[in-house]
Amino acid sequence: MIPGPTPIPQSILKAIARQPIKHRSDEFTSIMQEIYTNLKYIFQTKNDVFIFASSGTGAMCGALENILNPKDRILCLVTGKFGERWAEIAKLRGAEVDILSCNFGEVITPKMLQDHLSLHKPYKAITLTHSETSTGVANDLQSLCAIIKKTESLCIVDGISSICAMPCKMDEWGIDILISGSQKGLMLPSGLSFLALSAKAYEIHKKCLFPSFYFNFSLHKEALKKNTTPFTPSINLIFGLLESLRIIKNIGLENLYHKHKKHTFALRDAIRAMGLELFVKDDAHASYATTSIIPPNGIKAQDIIKHLQENYNIIIASGQQELEEKIFRIGTLGYIHNEDLIQTITALEQTLQSLGYKFENKIGTQTLLEKLKMP
Ligand SMILES: *Cc1c(COP(=O)(O)O)cnc(C)c1O
Repeated sequence: MIPGPTPIPQSILKAIARQPIKHRSDEFTSIMQEIYTNLKYIFQTKNDVFIFASSGTGAMCGALENILNPKDRILCLVTGKFGERWAEIAKLRGAEVDILSCNFGEVITPKMLQDHLSLHKPYKAITLTHSETSTGVANDLQSLCAIIKKTESLCIVDGISSICAMPCKMDEWGIDILISGSQKGLMLPSGLSFLALSAKAYEIHKKCLFPSFYFNFSLHKEALKKNTTPFTPSINLIFGLLESLRIIKNIGLENLYHKHKKHTFALRDAIRAMGLELFVKDDAHASYATTSIIPPNGIKAQDIIKHLQENYNIIIASGQQELEEKIFRIGTLGYIHNEDLIQTITALEQTLQSLGYKFENKIGTQTLLEKLKMP
């Protein structure tokens, strides 16, 4: 129950567990053709979507390393650890980095962005994190993108934990570069990342003085035209990806979004019913990928996590960096079912009672069950 890596359906595990094939072959090319088409569906775009053999951060590097020249101005919207990562990558490229941030657990509002932009010279690019997995917030991506669209800046979005979990419409919302990773909503092991890019982003890449070699947009675009990849792909993960995209297409994105939303709000209500405090106060700002909870007074987050694992074999996440002691996180991302949530909340109730926290017996499970019954 952590926000990635997430559980994997049996049919995907089976697809991965076969002999690798020659990657320059008709069989592999036809697999890639189907995959490239289906990736456009999950990214909600007509643009090319590249596949890299890397974790999600690789695609973040790819995004900035193909765009930025030394001294270019970039604005990074920071709502947590993953928003900070964009700024770290941009600094290593010698860019001039401005940061617009907020208290962790809150979001960057459209007004904050508007006000900031009205006071500063135009930026070459602006980076955003859709679902900030480290805190559990989701930024209002559509509204923020609408503001960026009126400027000349490229709009670059980390959708690593939002793709397949919450609506993220690349073309409709005007995103120029949208990235994701395999081990979150796509129900795959870690090791693949994805990058979709607009024609505008590709034009800007052509003027990049020192572009990345491994993540190079031009090399990947050429390979994609031939339904292949420029370097040896992660062949067995590609087998898994073929199956995962078929599953996602079959279920339908809207149904997947609905499931993630329902789980998130059922969980939030159950947590509140137990008298616990959520780290993200405003329901409107809740990510459907992960829910952050503040431990009751006098009980350590680490003790809750340890007790759940040792007694119930349920694995949840701690906070990251400065939030490590302050919150614990329950993922609702990917191949998670009602049963998983029910077990988790029941075990959490018993864990908290063992650790001395007092609340109305079974109120969390009861609330969860009621909410899960709703359509
Ligand atoms: C998981 C995650 C990342 C990092 O991905 P890695 O695969 O660990 O490199 C970046 N951004 C967000 C929002 C994430 O959830």
